[in-house]
Formats: sequence, C-alpha cells, structure tokens
Amino acid sequence: MSKLTEEQWGKKNNIYYFSKLLEHNGHNIGLTGYGKDEDNIENMSVECLDCNEVLMDFEESYEKPMDELCEIAHKKLKAKCKKLNIIMDKRDENGDLHYTEKAQDIFNKILDDLDYKFNK
Ligand SMILES: [Zn+2]
Repeated sequence: MSKLTEEQWGKKNNIYYFSKLLEHNGHNIGLTGYGKDEDNIENMSVECLDCNEVLMDFEESYEKPMDELCEIAHKKLKAKCKKLNIIMDKRDENGDLHYTEKAQDIFNKILDDLDYKFNK
C-alpha cells in the first residue's frame, strides 16, 4: 500500500487527473453506472464519448487506489533500499508498517523526480 499521507496522495492524484482530463478538453463527456442492474450500480464511470476512453471511475466500496505514480515510486524505492541495504519499513506501536525516516526521504525524492517527468 501507498505510504503517502492523505495530502501527498491528493496532490499527486490531482496532478494526474488534471493532465488526463486536459487531453479531453472540449470533448463530449458521459457518465455511466455499471453493476448487475439499475438498482445495483457498483461503479460510476466518467468517459470521453469522443475518444471512447474511461477518464475516471469510482467504486461503491471505496478502497484507496494506489495511484500510478506512487506505485512506480514504491517499486523504485524497494529496489533502491535493497541496493543500498537500507531498511525500508518498520512497524509502529499499532503494528502498522511505515517507511523508515531514511526510506521516506528517498521516497519523497523519487516522487519529486517522477512528478517532474510527469509534468513535462
Ligand atoms: Zn476525448
């Protein structure tokens, strides 16, 4: 799972959707519900009707998705920690896994780099 704070996650997500939506500026956008039937809609999907592409979709049972950027960053961090022989996560008093301070620094840096490339 993503170790980003809610604020960091929101920011990356915002940037991601801004560029994604910008590509469809001025297009015809539709909203469609998917499910077993009309009374059991489980997924709402925002689609570009001109490009026939799903722009955003939302599940009824919400599970925070790991956004593309974070997933890449997490993989990069994992590789980097292994290479540098750094401990990546530790458990807190509640037993939840968190990045170590050192890993978090690297993770933030990776995200910044990715963000930069993402916005180019
Ligand atoms: Zn479009």
